[in-house]
Amino acid sequence: QPDPDAQSQPTGQLRTPIVAVLGHVDHGKTTLLDTIRGSAVTEGEAGAITQHIGSTAVPLSVISDIAGKLVDPDDFDLPGLLFIDTPGHHSFSTLRSRGGALADIAILVVDVNDGFQPQTLEALDILKRTQTPFVVAANKADTVPGWNPGDTEPIQQAIERQNDRVESDLNEKLYEIIGKLSDNGFSADMYWRVQNFQNNIGVVPLSAMTGEGIPDLLTVLMGLSQRFLKAEMSIDVGGPGAGTVLEVTEERGFGTTLDAIIYDGTIREDDQIVVGGVNEPIVTEVRALLKPKPLSEIRTEKEFETVEEIAAADGVKIAAPDLDDAMAGAPIRVVRDQDLDDVIADVRKELAEIEVQTEEEGVTVKADTLGSLEAISGTLEDEEIPIMHAEVGDVAPRDVRMAATADDPKHQAILAFGVDILDDARRLAEQEDVDIFEDDVIYQLVEDYDEHVTAIETAQQDQILENITRPARFEILPDHTFRQSDPAVVGVEVLGGKLRRNVNVGRFENGEFERVGHLKTIQDEGEDVDESTRGDRVAVSIEGPTVGRQIKEGETLWVEIPEKHAKILEQELKEDITGGEREVLKQYLDTHRKRDPFWGK
Ligand code: GDP
Repeated sequence: QPDPDAQSQPTGQLRTPIVAVLGHVDHGKTTLLDTIRGSAVTEGEAGAITQHIGSTAVPLSVISDIAGKLVDPDDFDLPGLLFIDTPGHHSFSTLRSRGGALADIAILVVDVNDGFQPQTLEALDILKRTQTPFVVAANKADTVPGWNPGDTEPIQQAIERQNDRVESDLNEKLYEIIGKLSDNGFSADMYWRVQNFQNNIGVVPLSAMTGEGIPDLLTVLMGLSQRFLKAEMSIDVGGPGAGTVLEVTEERGFGTTLDAIIYDGTIREDDQIVVGGVNEPIVTEVRALLKPKPLSEIRTEKEFETVEEIAAADGVKIAAPDLDDAMAGAPIRVVRDQDLDDVIADVRKELAEIEVQTEEEGVTVKADTLGSLEAISGTLEDEEIPIMHAEVGDVAPRDVRMAATADDPKHQAILAFGVDILDDARRLAEQEDVDIFEDDVIYQLVEDYDEHVTAIETAQQDQILENITRPARFEILPDHTFRQSDPAVVGVEVLGGKLRRNVNVGRFENGEFERVGHLKTIQDEGEDVDESTRGDRVAVSIEGPTVGRQIKEGETLWVEIPEKHAKILEQELKEDITGGEREVLKQYLDTHRKRDPFWGK
């Protein structure tokens, strides 16, 4: 049985543009895709819209039925649009074709009430980086209070039905979105005012729920593709197929299979193919090409039917031997009229492009696909977080052992994106003190790691402060000698800084510091204490001197600060000590530097 889409390809020269949907969680991506599919079905063309593997094809005839007077099919020669079914920028980055994003064009969904959110910005970054043309779907227009809902119809028609207040409320929200786009470097306007879609982003108000504005969205997508993608859509349909692995799945009766999107040429049963694998490119032969059965027949025993060939752009499940090591996001190439070695070299080269820049020292990253690995490492690079090791796959014990070899405790961490953590890896991580961070959202993952780094740095700072000698000055009070010597015990008043026990103390003699003894303990009203501060009157024991000889009542002593400590205090910890300590430190340094200007520098 021939593939229905093979017929919808006009003489085989222009392929269907691939459309991706991106946006923040809950802004309506899934609903939008469902509605596009649903409207296509209600237009009575259920036969023409086919459920593909991982994608939905909407032919031009269906688009023009939905869009009504907005679209004249004679204006277009592209065959329609192929929507990738899994929305979100994760899948967007996962799905790549030679040198770029697999999607030719994108819809950025923004909830008009919620506005720009972290994942909206992340999606914008990705679209900018991959230079993918896109339109903004300003979704949930129907939630503007007082909205009088309709159904699948052009947005102007829907707006005409609203009262002035509703219309101006909607406009206000739309201009907020346009403003945010401009803040992020995208000049944008309502789509009907955009003259040049190459320089300006069109904003399409719509409701994925009611269908209002869906005709406009499809029209803009079609127009954008026709104007700017036509050259790229021109392919040699008879040429060797090229595609991208969406997912590697077990299929009963077929073993390990690849869900793939073919974006160039044709793939046929029995074709020899090269697929990107974990270690090496895999060379194998197509055993079967599978497509879902039409919805009406899906309850029959077999979910799939086989087809003899698939032409771009289309989704397909490929059954072939030896696919266990295939990776999501990896390239697929049909070997036809070329040297096998050249194709292998091509696949290698493409994989190498995706490979991540790693360093001697850094964190370990595990991700579910090559595309996501690349996206995370891009983000980490922006954040100046070095990567020591990056790989596709679940977190296994050897990843933990790898992470544990990092020198810096901050880098003894694994960032796991959309993958599982094997039980024995988790156990080992606990033993080895390796921290594992898991999330399906890149910014969240990096944010969690950042917090962890801050916590470690604060702890390190505290540790340093704990071990460094703190500046203090105190006076030996008259008539408060409790013991003359071995050790001397005297009452003192702290004049400034933080007096801690176990420090050397002394005085400046002709500008030179002279140690008089070791301050061993501090007692406050008979209780041992670790430290005392300005104004405190405490009793201290000092090993070394005898009162009346090396030290005298009424004189001022200083805590001796080793030169190295003085340097750290002045250069690194100035903000972390108290104002009183800073003052004593300054006096201490000034006194030293009168004699030696470079002391502690
Ligand atoms: P996703 O996370 O971006 O895929 O968002 P969903 O499509 O799951 O939508 C999130 C929620 O918003 C769901 O409860 C939807 O029913 C609702 N929603 C989506 N689009 C619209 C819309 O146009 N109008 C209204 N009122 N609700 C919507």
